[in-house]
Amino acid sequence: MCGIFGYLGNKQASEIIFQGLQRLEYRGYDSAGIAVKNGTGIALEKKKGRIHNLQELSKNLKGTLGIGHTRWATHGEPNDVNAHPHHSTDKKIMIVHNGIIENFSALKEFLNCSCISATDSEVLAHLIQHHYKGNLLEAVRLSLLQVEGTYGLAVMHQHHDEIIIARNGSPLVVGLGKNEYIISSDLAAIAPHTKKYFCLDDKQIGKLTPSGYEVKDLENSAITKELERITWDVKSIEKKGFSHFMLKEIFEQPASLKNCFRGRITNDEIKVTLNLDDAFIKSINRIILVGCGTSWHSALVAEYAMEKTLNIPVEVEYASEFRYRNPILHENDLVVVISQSGETADTLAALKEAKKHCKTIGIINVVGSTIAREAGSGIYIHAGPEIGVASTKAFTGQILGLLLLALYIDEKREKTANLKTIKDALDNLEEHIKAILEKNEDIKKIAEAYYNSTNFLFLGRGSNFPVALEGALKLKEISYIHAEGYPAAEMKHGPIALIDEHMPVVFIANQNGLHDKIISNMEEVYARKGSIIALTTDDRELKKYTKHIITVPETIDLLQPILNSIPLQLLAYHIAVLKNLDPDKPRNLAKSVTVE
Ligand code: GLU
Repeated sequence: MCGIFGYLGNKQASEIIFQGLQRLEYRGYDSAGIAVKNGTGIALEKKKGRIHNLQELSKNLKGTLGIGHTRWATHGEPNDVNAHPHHSTDKKIMIVHNGIIENFSALKEFLNCSCISATDSEVLAHLIQHHYKGNLLEAVRLSLLQVEGTYGLAVMHQHHDEIIIARNGSPLVVGLGKNEYIISSDLAAIAPHTKKYFCLDDKQIGKLTPSGYEVKDLENSAITKELERITWDVKSIEKKGFSHFMLKEIFEQPASLKNCFRGRITNDEIKVTLNLDDAFIKSINRIILVGCGTSWHSALVAEYAMEKTLNIPVEVEYASEFRYRNPILHENDLVVVISQSGETADTLAALKEAKKHCKTIGIINVVGSTIAREAGSGIYIHAGPEIGVASTKAFTGQILGLLLLALYIDEKREKTANLKTIKDALDNLEEHIKAILEKNEDIKKIAEAYYNSTNFLFLGRGSNFPVALEGALKLKEISYIHAEGYPAAEMKHGPIALIDEHMPVVFIANQNGLHDKIISNMEEVYARKGSIIALTTDDRELKKYTKHIITVPETIDLLQPILNSIPLQLLAYHIAVLKNLDPDKPRNLAKSVTVE
């Protein structure tokens, strides 16, 4: 995780780097630092805590070339010393690093050097000093040949007007402005400066100087980078009057979901382009959906829709487990990897493993991200930049993206799905979501009744079971309340022991085939004085059990989990805010998990 930002141009670097780090803060926020080259050497300021702690300090840094970092600690606790940038013993070299240097102990031994920080990263500064003979790019290249692990890296030296960059597994983008270069871990921080950019690929290294740039691979062969353009509007990464990004992103769902299916489905055709030939699609005999966290939950929701539509066995795997289990894959399997950022390290590794055996598809939000490029082909969910650390609009977009994939596969096989019915339901989705968002104040009142609780249970059946899991995850991520999701009928096999008057239980209780069953589960909680919050499409039978009922519009089964998820996002959001917590930047978390 963590965010790297650098500037080389003719403006004051520290202010630009400070603002860039603020845009990257969602990637990590336990400490931050900035180093700027001035007339005499390199001045450095770094501080434990949020980036705003650096605001005053960074004003001491004068110069037009610098690098900065916002950290999400992997090795060494968050404190001033462990914050990046780190420097060599002679203090002439500064580095910022995103990722993990796996062989840092061996490198320390090799250099026989003592580091002042507890990080894995600092040793890189010493290693570069060891190899430095006047050419910084070469020193970094020789150093990286010795490194095992992942890195997004930016390096500066007090005697060179240049920034050296490198990447392996952690993203790094270079923006090309007018007489200036901006480097960043993601495009969102570059967009306010320039639309023109290129991405470094793995095991590539580059040099940026006032007179131009060069990129090569670690074997020293020159590489020509294709320049790309940012096509989205910078305003999409601003809060637009909402108190938090998370709330804004929840409220964007009528539009973000429309963006996902627009132009991709008609009454009789699915229009997505995938690099899968028809013969292969006909031969698929297993689909494996792979993701982490919220993406894993979207896969669980999709499992129901896919099996129902395609009559093909679908398995859902945690990327982190899948990659190390020597998964048994055959050429007639299709592996679908799901990641909002397209940079999730575990998912990327799972993809690389799967590609050795079978065809792969990505369901990704960030266009041009590593997983999107590695996957071969896939479906972008087009949710727009998601800044809130707890995923909301990307989750619902992933469910929809996976549904489009299922419909596409179905079209090439049995054509069992009634596209007109689905298209009609999708056309109504916007109005349905708006109706749910209008209940924001009612949901806030429910949050007011429960925000002091220390535990929550979320229960659902069928495809509402993963909705329950996601509701629980959202709550624990941002409110730090312990919450668990369970299939409602499983409650009696264990969690029922927890039920008393202090245990709020959220039931996702739609009118579908399992409604009567879930009413029985509700009775079981009611009989034990648990506090019930019910989410339903029809509240008539539920008033007996609780006054805390959230009604959502009814849609087709395939889309109902999308609607059901939104009130749970709002519930978690309001509980976090009532507890005086920042839902955009929950403790210990970061948005894009680019380390294992
Ligand atoms: N492993 C490094 C550290 O703990 C970098 C972590 C990050 O990517 O933020 O400092």
